[in-house]
Amino acid sequence: MSAPGRSVAATVGALDVERLRRDFPALAQEVRGRRLVYLDNAATAHKPRAVLEAVQHHYACEYSNVHRGVHWLSERATEAYEGAREKVRAFLNAPDRREIVFVRGTTEAINLVAASWGGANLRPGDEVLVTEMEHHSNIVPWQLVCERTGAVLRVAPIDDDGNLLVEEFERLCGERTRIVAVTQLSNALGTINPVRRLVEIAHAHGALALVDGAQAAPHMPVDVQALGCDFYAFSGHKLYGPTGIGVLWARRELLEAMPPYQGGGEMIRQVTFEGSTWAPPPAKFEAGTPHIVGAIGLGAAIDYVRGVGLEAIARHERELLAYADEALAEVPGLRVIGRARERAGLVSFVFDDIHPHDVGTILDHEGVAVRAGHHCAMPVMQRYGVPATARASFALYNTREDIDALVAALHRVRSMFGR
Ligand code: PMP
Repeated sequence: MSAPGRSVAATVGALDVERLRRDFPALAQEVRGRRLVYLDNAATAHKPRAVLEAVQHHYACEYSNVHRGVHWLSERATEAYEGAREKVRAFLNAPDRREIVFVRGTTEAINLVAASWGGANLRPGDEVLVTEMEHHSNIVPWQLVCERTGAVLRVAPIDDDGNLLVEEFERLCGERTRIVAVTQLSNALGTINPVRRLVEIAHAHGALALVDGAQAAPHMPVDVQALGCDFYAFSGHKLYGPTGIGVLWARRELLEAMPPYQGGGEMIRQVTFEGSTWAPPPAKFEAGTPHIVGAIGLGAAIDYVRGVGLEAIARHERELLAYADEALAEVPGLRVIGRARERAGLVSFVFDDIHPHDVGTILDHEGVAVRAGHHCAMPVMQRYGVPATARASFALYNTREDIDALVAALHRVRSMFGR
């Protein structure tokens, strides 16, 4: 436990968290007369000034539509938008800028792959393999395309601690498996999956591998070439960037072979009433005016996290998680859901006799923002026999003092329920 009276933003690990916190204006506000303790980062993270300023600067000084204009402003906007694509490429260590498709977020990225690749390649009896810990956005798009094509969804189970049963995954990955779609980091349990190994298993069976990186991208360095996967998806807003922008990375030959997901301006080569032809990727998958400023803001967020250092962020959050595990173990009646061997970024918990929504509401009155619910992972809730959990999730700007505030508020929850 931290000593009373210490600074709000003590330096943990190698990060100068006190200094970093000053980059995030939202953190300086009070909520219900108390210091804001923001522990809902898995839902979305706050934005550093560098992102806010990039967005403001672009709208104020360089704003225009991209790709089509012949004028000065349109050239500036196109340079900035394409510059952001290059930043994403470097962030993922992707081989080629043309493999980066800007989308609305992880959800749209997975829907794009399921509809376009799945629609063109899945046949009756083919199989799509996911895990029991997936977010709805890595389940439902596959269910939709399975319905359309007659393919079958298979689910690899997890154990009581939230570890994926890799042998079961391997057993389920068979002759008919065409694609496996797995999360790198579970938003409900905090489990880090052995993605490299899962990709190897998929490829050994001739299947492709999609990685849902929505939670992983803000918490650990990502290298799509080292992972060996075929598709990688993440969202800007969880990575300290704007909402409404995200990324699908896919190997170029896949993008070239896949049919368009949406039709409209920008994605065509030629249009006649008899038929149309498509622009090469990524334009083929970016129909209509894109979220230009969102992409630029995401580029600024990537500059920011790379400046801080993803290794340092990961180390800092690992220490916070260890501290939280210890502190939460001292709260009577609290049960952590998800104790996988490899975890990061968050902790999910329940009191067996107090509903998580009540926990969340009381914590809010103490200025502590957590998420209470099924976290868009209803099958995980079913697996553990709980209606919902409360979840505290961390960002680079969280401190031990935030966790102390959480624990103090949890004691208050207990006392309000007469425990
Ligand atoms: N996958 C995981 C693991 C997530 O945590 C989330 C967001 N909660 C998503 C996918 C969907 O991301 P978005 O809502 O930004 O599209």
